[in-house]
Amino acid sequence: MNYLSDIKEILYSPRDIDERIQGLAKQIQTDYNGEDVVIISILKGSFIFTSDLIRYINLRLTIDFIHVSSYREGMTSKELIINKGLSSNINNKHVLLIDDIIDTGNTLKQVKEILTKENPLSIKTCVLYNKPSGRKVEMVADYVAYDVGNYFIVGYGLDYNEKYRNLPFVGILREEAITKI
Ligand code: 5GP
Ligand code: MG
Repeated sequence: MNYLSDIKEILYSPRDIDERIQGLAKQIQTDYNGEDVVIISILKGSFIFTSDLIRYINLRLTIDFIHVSSYREGMTSKELIINKGLSSNINNKHVLLIDDIIDTGNTLKQVKEILTKENPLSIKTCVLYNKPSGRKVEMVADYVAYDVGNYFIVGYGLDYNEKYRNLPFVGILREEAITKI
């Protein structure tokens, strides 16, 4: 299957994303002011964003992953399921929680609540994309690379039915591609 023919429009090129991520990393580095940070990346959607972002952050950071599922089939949101929890102790640590996108707000809000119970020193959130039109629960991320409109985006880690994560850009799927999967 040719992935590119499934894309209606490219919204963010690899270069756009790289430049924006560098700016975000600079802001994070300044705000943490030399403190140690535990980066927690929510799998799977944020794995590419996280790996690019952290290479621009000059802080003594450690990294951990939590794997949750919310959009399990296509675009239908379901209950949050924790497939893999943390493998490190975040008690008394500064935590920066990273996700690919906030839509309804359920995922980030629930993961933040779960991690808050482990008594971190601080907990902030960072997302590549914010979709304000989708919000169902109150949730504001501390760091946002881009606000996006009310459309379903794929690429650069974001999937549709587990596909398209490896696209180097972020774009919108054609209607035909959504129905044929
Ligand atoms: P929320 O819990 O905020 O509704 O949704 C968060 C999760 O839904 C994201 O981590 C992502 O997996 C998925 N999601 C929401 N909007 C989009 C979108 O436009 N494209 C893709 N690929 N996933 C999305
Ligand atoms: Mg997803």
